[in-house]
Amino acid sequence: MSRVYNFSAGPSCLPEEVLKECAEEMLDYNGTGQSVMEMSHRSKAYKPIIEHAEAQVRKLMKVPENYKVLFLQGGGSTQFAMVAQNLGIHTGKAAYIQTGVWAKKAAQEAKHLGLTVDIIASSEDKNYSYIPKVEKIEGDYDYAYICFNNTIMGTHYEYIPDTGKIPLVADISSCVLSEELDVSKFGLLFAGAQKNLAPAGVTLVIIREDLITDTPRQGTPTMMCYKTHSDAASMYNTPPCYTIYVLAKVLDWIEKKGGVQAIHKLNVEKADWLYNYLDSSSYYHATAEKGSRSLMNVPFLTKETDAEKAKVINDKFVAEAAKAGLVNLAGHRLVGGMRASIYNAMTLEGVKALTAFMDKFAKENF
Ligand SMILES: *Cc1c(COP(=O)(O)O)cnc(C)c1O
Repeated sequence: MSRVYNFSAGPSCLPEEVLKECAEEMLDYNGTGQSVMEMSHRSKAYKPIIEHAEAQVRKLMKVPENYKVLFLQGGGSTQFAMVAQNLGIHTGKAAYIQTGVWAKKAAQEAKHLGLTVDIIASSEDKNYSYIPKVEKIEGDYDYAYICFNNTIMGTHYEYIPDTGKIPLVADISSCVLSEELDVSKFGLLFAGAQKNLAPAGVTLVIIREDLITDTPRQGTPTMMCYKTHSDAASMYNTPPCYTIYVLAKVLDWIEKKGGVQAIHKLNVEKADWLYNYLDSSSYYHATAEKGSRSLMNVPFLTKETDAEKAKVINDKFVAEAAKAGLVNLAGHRLVGGMRASIYNAMTLEGVKALTAFMDKFAKENF
C-alpha cells in the first residue's frame, strides 16, 4: 500500500490514524458485531457516538451554552437556502459581502427565495484576490453574511466585521477547526464536512438559540427548518450516521494533537512554508493578496503569461506531480492554475514534498 499526498479541496485527505481506526472497527464496532454503517441511528450503540461528536464540537470550539450544534445534510449549498428561509423573516433584508463563488451563490439563493439582498462590498474588481475591509455593518438587516474562507480563491478574513445587533452568518466550510474562532461573535456558523472535518455527507451548523424560529418564511419545508432539527437533537430523520462517526474520530484526533490552538500553529507553519516559497520564487506566485491569504487553500500560477502556453504547462505540472505522488493540484475549473489545499490533515512533510517537486519542475521547464 502506498499513500499519496492529497491536496484536494474537498472531499479531502483525512488523518491516517482516523482511517486506520475506522478500518479496524469496520466489521465489529465495539463488540456489537456490526459496522456503524449498519446500525439503527436510534440504537444504544449509536447514541453515544453522536453525543460524543456534539460534545467534542462544543469543547474544541468553545461553543457557548446558548448555541445549538446541529448535524444536517445537504452540504454547505443547502445552508445558503436555510439561512435565508429561517433568518430572513423580519425585514426580509440581508447584507452579503461578495468574496467569491460561494458567497455569490449564497447571495443568489437568498434573492431567489425572495429576500432583498444588498451586496455591501465585493472583491470582484480584482478577481476576488482579496477580502474587502468592512469594519462595521449597519442597517435594518435580518442578518449579515460572509464566507470566512474562500476555498476557490484562497482568501480568508483576518478580521470579523462588527455587525452590532445584526446576526452575523459565516460559511466556515473550508476553515472550520483550522484556527480558534470566537463563536459568540456569530449568530450562525456552518460547515460542510468534506473539507476539514469528515467525509462528505454531514453539515455542521452552530446556531444561537434565539435565531431558531417557529415561523420561517412561508413555504419553508419541514426539513429546512432549524427548529425541526434542533427539537429532535439532529435525529428528526436518519442522520448521516457513519459520517458523524468519522467526524467524532477526527475531533478526537484534533484533541490528541493538542486542540485547535496547536492545530492552528501547525497550519501556520505549513502555510508559511508554502507562501514563503511562492513569494521568493521567480517561477511561481500566489494569487491571493497578502493580508487576505487562506491558511487552507493556496492557489498559485507559474510565470507563464500566455494563456495557451500556461494551460499546457499547468496540465503538465499537475500530471507530473501526480506521478510523483502529489495529487489533486489542479486549480478550480473556474479559475485555472494550480491550488494546493492544505487542510488540518495535510502534514508539513507533504507541503515540503510539494515545494521540492515545484523546484524540480521549474528547473526542468523554465
Ligand atoms: C465546498 C464549499 C461549499 C459547498 O459545499 P457543498 O457541501 O458541496 O454544498 C460552500 N462553501 C464553501 C466555502 C465551500 O468550500
